[in-house]
Order: sequence, then C-alpha cells, then structure tokens
Amino acid sequence: MFEPKWYQSLGLEDIAAKVRDGVRLSLEDGERLYRCPSPLAVGALAHQVRTRCHGNRTFYVLNRHINYSNICVNGCLFCAFSREAGAPGAFQLSLEDILGKLTEPEAAAITEVHIVGGCHPDLPLAYFETMLREIRRIRPHLVIKAFTAVEIQHFADREKTSVGAVLARLQAAGLELLPGGGAEVFSPRVRRLLCPNKLSGAGWLAVAREAHRMGIRSNATMLYGHLESHRERLEHLDALRCLQDETGGFLCFIPLPFQPDHTLIENARATTGVDDLKTIAVSRLMLDNIPHIKAYWVMLTVKVAQTALHFGADDLDGTVIEEKIGHMAGAESDQALTRSQLERLIRDAGFEPVERDSYFQPVARPDQTEAAPARHHPCP
Ligand code: SF4
Repeated sequence: MFEPKWYQSLGLEDIAAKVRDGVRLSLEDGERLYRCPSPLAVGALAHQVRTRCHGNRTFYVLNRHINYSNICVNGCLFCAFSREAGAPGAFQLSLEDILGKLTEPEAAAITEVHIVGGCHPDLPLAYFETMLREIRRIRPHLVIKAFTAVEIQHFADREKTSVGAVLARLQAAGLELLPGGGAEVFSPRVRRLLCPNKLSGAGWLAVAREAHRMGIRSNATMLYGHLESHRERLEHLDALRCLQDETGGFLCFIPLPFQPDHTLIENARATTGVDDLKTIAVSRLMLDNIPHIKAYWVMLTVKVAQTALHFGADDLDGTVIEEKIGHMAGAESDQALTRSQLERLIRDAGFEPVERDSYFQPVARPDQTEAAPARHHPCP
C-alpha cells in the first residue's frame, strides 16, 4: 500500500519516497516516524519493504531454548532471570539435564537449539566445549546457536584470553551461530544506569564483528521500553546497520519489549501495543541491510507478534518449548507453540508459512509438500 496523499497529509512524503526508492533513512527520519500519529502509516511503509524482501512468506523454525544457568555476576537492573550463586531460585543444569532436553519427544523434530545463560563466575570454557561436543554427538544435524556476545566476552575474561580464541574453541566444538542477546540498548547513558557491570555496547559490537570475521553469523536484539529515548533506539539501530555494512554477518534483528515484573527498575511499565508495532516497523525501515525482522512472540505476546507481521516482521521465531528469561519477568505468553499453531497464526494473518532452518533456508520435510526456495537476499 502506498498512498502519496496519505503520507503528504502526515508530512512524511519525503520518507515515503525514500522507502519507495530504497534510499537509506536518517536518524531524523526515524524520529519523525516515531512521532507520526498514525501507526498504520508507519506500518504500511515497513510492510512495503517486508513484501519487497520476502513476498508473502513468513518464516518460523522448530527450535528449543535451553538456559544452562541463571547464575550471573552482572546484576543488570532490568533482569528478572539472573541470581547470585546460592540465592533462592538460582539454578545450573548438569550436562545430563541439557542432553535430556534434546532427547525428549518434544525436541525430536527441532532443527536448532538456542542456548544462553548468565555470566557464571565459575564455569570454565571447557564445560561449554564439552556441552557443545556432546550435543553434536547425540544430535549431529542440529544447528547450535549459543552464547550471547556478553557471555563470549565473559568467557574470554575468565580464561584470560581473546574473544577470537574463545570463538575458535567453541566453533571447533560445534558452535555455528550466536544469538542476538545482551545488546540491550547500546547507549552508554542507559547502560550506566541499568547494567553498569555488563559489556559495553562497543564491546558487544566488537564481539559480533570478530564472530562475523570468523564466519560465525549472528542475530542482534534491542531491549526497548525502559529508560531509553527514541533517539537512543535509533542510534542502536544505526550502529547495527553500520556493522552490517562492514561484515554482512547479521541474519536477523529482534526488538524485545522490556518485561517489567520482578525487575529492580522503579515504576517500570510494560510497553504498549502501539509502541511494539511501531518499533517493529521502524526497525524494518531503518535496518535496510539486515534481511529479517523477528516478531518474538514470547516477549510481544502471540497476538501482537501475529499483528507485527503486517508491520514489517517476516519471522515468528519458533516452537521454543521452554522459556525462562521472559517468563521470569512476567511474559504472559505460553512456553511453547506447536508447528500447527505457528502455521495457523501465519495463515490467519494472510501469509504463507515457511519452515526455515537457522540460516533462513526453507526446510523440506518428507511428510510435507516441499517448501519453495526462499528469495534469500538482503533487503534493498
Ligand atoms: S541480563 Fe544477562 S548479564 Fe544481565 S544480569 Fe541478566 S543474565 Fe546477567
């Protein structure tokens, strides 16, 4: 949908023309989109880009999340997941626990395991290498997406070695991709207030850069809806866009609405549906070089995630099976969705569901009609 008069009436005709012509948006353009009183107008622009990139396809993955431990030295104020060692609610899974989660019937069809945890004070890198090798042994075809940039830097600090050396050891043990967590908002102001002990935004980008240089692709997130301004969100997106220009290593961007329950942020409130949808749309419009935008139903709620497919998102994440990080902070969604639930959500929104692998390539199942190959190219 492209209605010049509509955008003229909103004072956005120049931005609409840029979107139509594939011209990069400035941070000021992003601020104007956030100020636009019509979320539908912003969403329609994002939908235009999403359709140009992916047609009518919406992707999902059969995956399983595993949180190996919530013990963390960082104590970020927005985090309801982490605990100090020995505190009530602290946990650490054994290797047997982890492997058991990948041999249970619910995990039989998954193609990806997503593993993250806190920055544990004591676990050596060898523990993680063994974890990956054992997963590789029992599930050789599973893609292992594991450890945020924050965890990778923590491993390097703990081992007194470089990020490159850590990544090389983990890669040799089976690591294929990094998830996008830990990015939060890169703004030093916000990080000083919310997570002063955590890896800086520049540090997060440096780990991603090194991973991409080594052929390890990754995702990127943004946690929004706490203390940050729209400008700080846009600067975060721009930093990702610049790194993507340099490396091309990001597969997908995932905006994560802040979940306020059980956090240490005073007077914290959940984001609104309009803010969620606008943020998805603005992300699609600003990140002209990152191919996919994920509507992560766990944090957004299933209903908002489904709606977000009309606001620029082309991916609904996956089955998940077990989720702790968002739910310990009050996420209201279920812990898991089945393939048929995901497909129904996508079809009911008017799109064609495509099961994908971790690299966004279609998965053909012998029991199903083969999915058509995706047009796998960066967005214009
Ligand atoms: S957000 Fe991550 S680094 Fe921060 S306290 Fe929670 S688990 Fe630790």
